[in-house]
Amino acid sequence: MEEIKVRCCLVGGGPAGMMLGFLLARSGVDVLVLEKHGDFLRDFRGDTVHPSTLEVLYELGLLEDFLRRPHQKMERGAVQIGQQTLSVADFTHLPTHARFIAFMPQWDFLNFIAEHGRDYPGFQLRMRTEVIDLLYEDGRVSGVRATTPDGELIVHSDLVVGTDGRHSIVRAKAGLKTLDIGAPMDALWMRISRQKSDPEQSLGRIDSGRIVVMINRDEYWQCAFVIPKGTAAQLKARGIESFRDQLVRLVPYFRGRVHELNSWDDISLLAVKVDRLETWYKPGLLCIGDAAHAMSPIGGVGINLAVQDAVAAANILAAPFAAGPPPISALQQVQRRREYPTRITQRIQVLVQNRVISRVLAAESELRVPTVLKLMQRWPWLRRIPARAIGMGARPEHVRTPQIFLRQKDPVAS
Ligand SMILES: Cc1cc2nc3c(=O)[nH]c(=O)nc-3n(C[C@H](O)[C@H](O)[C@H](O)COP(=O)(O)OP(=O)(O)OC[C@H]3O[C@@H](n4cnc5c(N)ncnc54)[C@H](O)[C@@H]3O)c2cc1C
Repeated sequence: MEEIKVRCCLVGGGPAGMMLGFLLARSGVDVLVLEKHGDFLRDFRGDTVHPSTLEVLYELGLLEDFLRRPHQKMERGAVQIGQQTLSVADFTHLPTHARFIAFMPQWDFLNFIAEHGRDYPGFQLRMRTEVIDLLYEDGRVSGVRATTPDGELIVHSDLVVGTDGRHSIVRAKAGLKTLDIGAPMDALWMRISRQKSDPEQSLGRIDSGRIVVMINRDEYWQCAFVIPKGTAAQLKARGIESFRDQLVRLVPYFRGRVHELNSWDDISLLAVKVDRLETWYKPGLLCIGDAAHAMSPIGGVGINLAVQDAVAAANILAAPFAAGPPPISALQQVQRRREYPTRITQRIQVLVQNRVISRVLAAESELRVPTVLKLMQRWPWLRRIPARAIGMGARPEHVRTPQIFLRQKDPVAS
């Protein structure tokens, strides 16, 4: 058994954990990120890096380096209803340095943060380390117990942060109460190859009873096929051939390619969840990102919110860390700061789920173009509103933490 002490222990190396670890280490706090997987190269979990996250990278002086990695840019968003293609979002007017959504595999984004985290002496990342329990001392969370390939690891820390996603063990072990908001749909994710003659535009295709979101990843389309909640088993029972037919009816040029979906193993189910914790903290412990609030896939904002939570948490916690264990009032402040954007975003997502998604999935006759979309075609400036909501969200965060060390051997107090 190994036993160590760090100032801050982050459980989970997703966007929230990696970004918070990076920012705290950058401001001189010793952090340890524990990640149960051996690498970041896992199933598809969203590839979107939104303008507000790109702005955070700009503020950190990392944007140029980041955009040197392979990615695709989406400056405008569109939907196709029946045969009509409609522009619905225009990111090119946002008050940010990068006015587009960058599509980059999540593992490239996480590796990028990990690489830059290693520039700071206080940053430690341990892979293949799964947290299984919390430690308590005098009624306060004082660390975690984890398993590793070499045996048990005990970590003592001033603060444990649950950044372990929507199935968070931290929030379960801490007994934090969850408010389940619910979702009427699930999504099936898959890849279909892309040909040069295909349209460039990433878009949502909508027809009565069917919705597919297609993201242009250059060599392939990353597709999400939306189904009514809990109906995946029925769909599977009808066979893969019937599913391929449904896909071709929405996207006719997939006809010669749907055989790439050999079996259901090529398709992963995302059981959509929308929930949030009533209280995000207790003495010695804080939850952020999906661990505090699982988001609906509408708008593809989960990664962005996780990063924004991390920036806010670092801004609030860096100074208290300098004086000792962050007091409960600082943890409370993090929730106060981030609960508002979470609630607003979830409210909009639920509205879209109930007013649009549920109706489309239940529709049997031809769909009509909603008035709001007609107005957007007539007055293009209206497309800036959804672009702002999706690209920046409510209350975008800015990096306020100082950079204490630049390189391991090159302290630069600033
Ligand atoms: C199929 C799919 C598609 C998605 N598409 C998009 C999209 O297009 N855009 C978007 O913005 N969002 C998307 N999301 C949501 C997005 O992935 C999440 O909102 C975002 O990753 C949340 O970040 P996080 O850091 O809070 O949690 P996560 O990214 O879930 O990270 C949690 C990390 O904790 C680790 N972990 C879990 N338990 C333990 C433990 N006990 N010990 C140690 N480590 C642990 C996990 O391995 C994981 O690496 C998608 C999700 C899925 C599943």
